[in-house]
Amino acid sequence: MSTAVALNLEALRSEFPILHQTIDGNPLVYLDNAATTQKPRAVIQAITDFYTQCNANVHRGAHQLADEATRRYEHARDTVANFIGAADRSEVIWTSGTTEAINIVANGMAQQLTAGDEVLVTEMEHHANLVTWQQACLRSGAVLKVAPIHDNGALDTDAFSSLLSERTRLVALPHVSNALGTLNPIKALTAQAKAKGALVLIDGAQGIAHGGVQVADIGCDFYAFSGHKLFGPTGIGVLWGKASVLQDWPVWQTGGEMISRVSYQESSWGELPNRLEAGTPHIAGAIGMAAGINWFSQLDLAAVQAHEQALLAHATQQAQDFAGMQLVGTAPAKVGVLSFNLAGSHPADVGFLLDRQGVAIRTGDHCAQPLMRRLGVPGTARASFSVYNTLQEVDALFIALKKAQQMLA
Ligand SMILES: *Cc1c(COP(=O)(O)O)cnc(C)c1O
Repeated sequence: MSTAVALNLEALRSEFPILHQTIDGNPLVYLDNAATTQKPRAVIQAITDFYTQCNANVHRGAHQLADEATRRYEHARDTVANFIGAADRSEVIWTSGTTEAINIVANGMAQQLTAGDEVLVTEMEHHANLVTWQQACLRSGAVLKVAPIHDNGALDTDAFSSLLSERTRLVALPHVSNALGTLNPIKALTAQAKAKGALVLIDGAQGIAHGGVQVADIGCDFYAFSGHKLFGPTGIGVLWGKASVLQDWPVWQTGGEMISRVSYQESSWGELPNRLEAGTPHIAGAIGMAAGINWFSQLDLAAVQAHEQALLAHATQQAQDFAGMQLVGTAPAKVGVLSFNLAGSHPADVGFLLDRQGVAIRTGDHCAQPLMRRLGVPGTARASFSVYNTLQEVDALFIALKKAQQMLA
């Protein structure tokens, strides 16, 4: 890490137009990156360029705009495939986001799950990776097993291992917890699950932005993520899945683009990736997502990770010195997420008083109600850091928190 080239934060921040504004007279301090990241100029420009230069529908036009739109859209798929080390571009399925990607996996698993089969998730799931499997199990008679966490928010890996069985058909777990920041040892956990013959889905909504995801190295079967948490636009995401698994799966939605041959009586399906992508896709979204990936990829990854750890360490230190602050999620392996509560205060009130000082965080259950109950908290206030945040912004958070605490006393 020490050899990493330091980031030029001032130059980097200047690429994000939204950051340079005041909220009620205070400089904006944006610390809600686990909900969505801000967008660099390169992303905004790529989307604008598409609409101003070559807007057309893809794959079917007999004209040059359609050719150019198709070229940019399919090039975006190559960008994603290269970024995550996919064996083939056809393994990259465009979705509306992580949630839809997980639902496509659930649709595919539906025919395979039978009564008595098991699906293993963890106590730290986002609702997207919990409710989807809970419902799939209810429909099929499969049993949902939930691997417990320790009180510090780290996965109990021994319990995880002992919950794997010959009946485990799927293990679905997060790369990184959005509520706590816990970084799971997904490579080791995947190896254990594969040894039992299970398929493995990684919810990468948070993990993808923390860098270095190589799906072949992880060894999983599916990795799901969203563009908007990776500096790209909302409404676009990716399901990466092994072609050997996806190609035999039932289709997800039916309509244009995903077919091979259609008569009034019957239809046959196209090849991957189109067979899982019905209808006109989010063309500008895909192009914007690729621009976000390109922007992120030109940064020195070791420097990015070192910076994020420095922000987290600085924040954690101040939190430990802050009378009346309870940290929620102190696993040894964490990314830049600080979840906390102030004694005697509701997280929503803390969030409101921070907002009045220009500090944007998130409060509530973070789409993880069972996790909040497991930890015995009504919710948390969560500050989450991205590459463009500064140590001064962490200081600003704690100055604002002091004021909030005084006001709530
Ligand atoms: C944000 C998030 C999701 C859902 O992503 P969408 O973009 O809302 O589909 C799922 N899992 C985790 C861990 C998340 O952080």
